[in-house]
Amino acid sequence: MTNNMFFIANWKMFGDFKSVNSIKKVIKLSKDKKYKKAKIIYCPPYTLLDKFFKITKNSKIEIGAQNCHHYQNPGPFTGSVNVDLIKSIGAKYVIIGHSENRSSGDTNHNINLKIKSALKKKLKVIFCIGETLKEKRKNKTNSVLNSQIIRGLKNIKKNNNIIFAYEPVWSIGTGLVPKNKDLKIQINVIKKILSKFWRLNNPKIIYGGSVNPKNINDLRKISSIKGFLVGGASQKAKNFIDIIKKTIN
Ligand code: PEP
Repeated sequence: MTNNMFFIANWKMFGDFKSVNSIKKVIKLSKDKKYKKAKIIYCPPYTLLDKFFKITKNSKIEIGAQNCHHYQNPGPFTGSVNVDLIKSIGAKYVIIGHSENRSSGDTNHNINLKIKSALKKKLKVIFCIGETLKEKRKNKTNSVLNSQIIRGLKNIKKNNNIIFAYEPVWSIGTGLVPKNKDLKIQINVIKKILSKFWRLNNPKIIYGGSVNPKNINDLRKISSIKGFLVGGASQKAKNFIDIIKKTIN
């Protein structure tokens, strides 16, 4: 597991039934022994989860949802999907705490409830954390990461089923990527917080924010990064494949 590199595709609110076929090339790559270290996970919109599950069934590619409701039982929550519903479709992962959901109402408290709910039902969690540009300018990055982690993991026992996705909000969808030296520092900060708070010494930390086939050549040099959460560039199979190939080679 420790040698694996995660390549998590977040399709956000993009894609339709036809576009699912575009991932056939990625499925082919996933079967190539040369890329066996690549742990590829697709997180499409809810409406495409079933299609993605079926098309990837005979491959190592796994499926995840982009969010969930914290409530574990069926309930009167119009428009929401809980972890049981996500699991029932064959998904193994769920993204929780994405900044696009934090900015539309997710708080550290309900992110914590969502993580608990996912772990209880044995869904693995892709837990997104990261500072806004305003917070970065005020030198608050470390304290923001600290409180996102500590509050997000409150009363959750140390476990190995969480992937920590460091996604500076100012980098998502903007084309801006932190310098390698700054990114290394932030990954180290996250490691320190997890080691102090959870005694977790080998966390799976990935990076997300404008990863593309060009900047991957630099980003892949940071050995403490165990993979990438890729938004825009994952929607084109060619770009996603390029990112995987350049990282693994
Ligand atoms: C994301 O949505 O998690 C993301 C990293 O998006 P992008 O790659 O488009 O910046």
